[in-house]
Amino acid sequence: MTQPEPMSMFDADQLAACVQCGFCLSSCPTYETTHLEEHGPRGRILAMRLVEEGELTIDDPDVVDSLETCVQCRACETVCPSLVQFGSLMETARAEITERQPPRGPEGLAQRLLFAALVRRGLLRVGGILLALAQAVRADRLLPARLRPAQRVALADTLRSYRLPPPGAPVRGEAFLFRGCVMDGLFRDVHQATAQVLAAVGYRPRFEPAPPCCGALSAHAGRESEAHALAEATIAAYAGTTGPVLVNSAGCGGAMKEYGKLLGTEEARAFSARVKDLSELVTPEEVAARGGEVPLPLAYQAPCHLRNVQGLAEQARDLVAAIPGLTLLEPDDEQQCCGSGGIYSYLQPALGDAMLARKDASLQRTGAQGVVSGNPGCAMQIAREGWEIHHPAQLLARSLTP
Ligand code: SF4
Ligand code: SF4
Repeated sequence: MTQPEPMSMFDADQLAACVQCGFCLSSCPTYETTHLEEHGPRGRILAMRLVEEGELTIDDPDVVDSLETCVQCRACETVCPSLVQFGSLMETARAEITERQPPRGPEGLAQRLLFAALVRRGLLRVGGILLALAQAVRADRLLPARLRPAQRVALADTLRSYRLPPPGAPVRGEAFLFRGCVMDGLFRDVHQATAQVLAAVGYRPRFEPAPPCCGALSAHAGRESEAHALAEATIAAYAGTTGPVLVNSAGCGGAMKEYGKLLGTEEARAFSARVKDLSELVTPEEVAARGGEVPLPLAYQAPCHLRNVQGLAEQARDLVAAIPGLTLLEPDDEQQCCGSGGIYSYLQPALGDAMLARKDASLQRTGAQGVVSGNPGCAMQIAREGWEIHHPAQLLARSLTP
């Protein structure tokens, strides 16, 4: 039997940085689910090392299972004493697996259709309208349970064009609202609420330019060249503008803040510095001073890419907690992933469902009436358990605008 050739695929310094200490294990939602070493960060890095040393090939079924079951939440990065950049190692691995074993059959077709649709704004808009119509007449029940979006979509929101709200404070300048793909198709009400919040604190919100997709889902799925092309197109779309690019989807914001790392250019780094979450433009003090009451007991669930990539979980929580009258409850496993992971819950349903069940149990223990989440994937995943989801922008808009 011939041994696989050693290959240079991964960043050798990053692989060497892992001292196999295991501090990351308890932060990993897939390890916490199966308790198998190969489903934890340490086992995954070991698999990458064995591939790099030529002991195993990247398309070995055990290697593929170890790497493809990672939900890419990046919780392991935040606790690693050696600062291993697990996210970029995993994106390299996924790109290599996808190149060698492109998804085939019905799953491959579904992925090709999905990724083709993400860059076609008109198609996503029509999809949002059809989903809202189907939900209105309850025809969505005909869809297989796994493909049925649990998040309610209001027909009026999908049909309405964005409206420019009147300024509510002395104008600070323009803020460009990144509309994205799924957010623009299914969460137009969140975009409208975000614009209201921006206007209320003195920004002039802009809905254009509107590049089609940030490329985060492509990067996670190993579609490397597509992810690069979408990142470049997004940066190019904002050329000639100045001011913050406000991103109200935590996954998109995380990806766009890492364009500098992804593309390695000065232009990309400068663009990433413009990307902001709402919690970076609005302060808890101005919400507490000017906001109206929103008397709801809600559980706060920080999306993984807000916590582990953007490092803004606490800041974003404090902003929502400042809303007068709102009671913000913290689940006891708040740092654990809900199992959404972009399209992970469709590709790894058993693991995704197990993570969701744990998340649901922790949310139930808070006694909350609903959940606050600033990411469309998490919103759709947690809504599957019957929770009403509130985006921070919707709560802030309700508080800050009459
Ligand atoms: S915490 Fe860091 S160094 Fe330790 S096993 Fe995990 S990835 Fe490796
Ligand atoms: S990114 Fe998340 S799922 Fe993947 S190894 Fe790290 S902690 Fe585990």
